[in-house]
Formats: sequence, C-alpha cells, structure tokens
Amino acid sequence: MAADNFQSNMVLETTPSGNDQPQRLLIDCGSDARHSLRNIGHMPNDIHGVYVSHLHSDHIGGLEWMALANYFVFEGHRAELYAVDELLEPLWEHSLRGGLEISDHGNSKLSSYFDVVPLSTKNGFDWHGMHFDVIPVAHVVTPESTMYSYALFGHGQNKSFFLTTDAIFNPEDHMPFYKKADIIFQDCELGPRHSGVHAHYDQLVTLPAEIKAKMWLYHYQAYDKPDAVADGFCGFIEPEQSFDLG
Ligand SMILES: [Zn+2]
Ligand SMILES: [Zn+2]
Repeated sequence: MAADNFQSNMVLETTPSGNDQPQRLLIDCGSDARHSLRNIGHMPNDIHGVYVSHLHSDHIGGLEWMALANYFVFEGHRAELYAVDELLEPLWEHSLRGGLEISDHGNSKLSSYFDVVPLSTKNGFDWHGMHFDVIPVAHVVTPESTMYSYALFGHGQNKSFFLTTDAIFNPEDHMPFYKKADIIFQDCELGPRHSGVHAHYDQLVTLPAEIKAKMWLYHYQAYDKPDAVADGFCGFIEPEQSFDLG
C-alpha cells in the first residue's frame, strides 16, 4: 500500500504431489494486479483460483481485467472464484456488471468468466491439500452497519497461518487465531490518522510479545516505517517477498 508498493494481494503456490504443475491461488485481485502479477512473471492464465475477501477495489478491482484478459487473450482460461456466498451478488451487481455484462457472446454473468465457488463460513474450503477456514472480521463499523471482510486461517501440511485481510483492531476476537497460528499476516496502518478500519501500528505494538514474534505486517501506507523488529514483530512485508507455508 505504500506509494512504491502494490496493493495487499498474495499468490499462494502449491505443487500437489504427482503433479509438477504448480497451482496458484490469488488471494484478492486489486486494481494493481495487472502490474504486480507481471512483475513476478505471471499472466492471468497462470492463476487457477482467486479468493475474494471483501469488495474494496484494492481487493477486487482487477477482476474485470482478469476476466476480459482470460476471455479474449488467453483462450477462455477460467479461474475458480472463491468468495462467501453473501459477497457474490453485490460483487456482480455493484462492482463488475457494468464492465462485464454485455459481451460478444451475449449477456454475461459472473459464471460466464469464472468457475464460481460459493463459500460458507461454516465449512471454509480446500485448495490442493490445504484447508482454509473463512472467518468474518469487522472491517468498517458505523452506527448504521458493519462491513465485514473474510479473513483466512490456512492449514498447511506442517504450518498454519492467519491472514487478517482488512480488519479493525480486535484482539479479543482475533486472539484465538493469533494464538494457534504459526505465522500471522496482519494488516497494519501507519501515520498520524487512525482510520479505525485497520489495526494501527500503535495498537498492534501493545499485543503480547509471543503474538508479535510471529506477526508480519502489511497493507501499510507510505509513511516512515517504525522499527518493527525492535518492537518485537517479524517485520513489514516487502513487495515480492515470499514465505514457505508448507
Ligand atoms: Zn478494505
Ligand atoms: Zn485493503
């Protein structure tokens, strides 16, 4: 999110045994995805699945590009699209329909471009040997309503991780996941203004030392970064940084 960074999207790559083709799950597809994916050498047809956490454009703004590029350039390559059921209608009606509905093969729907996999928070989903729990986390809280994002708790072969996506600072609700995860990917805002829609660094620094010791920070803005390692965190995630989650 910093000025010289891309948005907070990630590629999860797994190579299932007996299959030497890596399978790639893009976790959120923001409006920067066209450039960020190319920087790491991927074209849209290298992506086999996309997970959508919530409907802000830094998480879904690249889906129209991906849909059209796959349709027109990459011979109809279809990615699976994973999102909780309640996001699918607004994703289409309020975000994607304007650009994708009318196409040369007649009126289209989300399923004309993606293999849509509706998720429930009860069951989560499986991805090539990994299981993901899908956890609603409050993101934008107003007196009228609460916008949720859907965080992920991933269970790999040997490691587990908690990815907050976009969430308010909510140690009470997040602590069970913080405690059981081997690695935490935590959205973190910097700077003088506390927006209230992300955990701020000043809040995260108050977490117990054993939680901070496995916490990586992302989704930060272009302010001078504090010394996160000195404060007990793993650090700030840099663009193109990769992690072994096997
Ligand atoms: Zn958001
Ligand atoms: Zn965001």
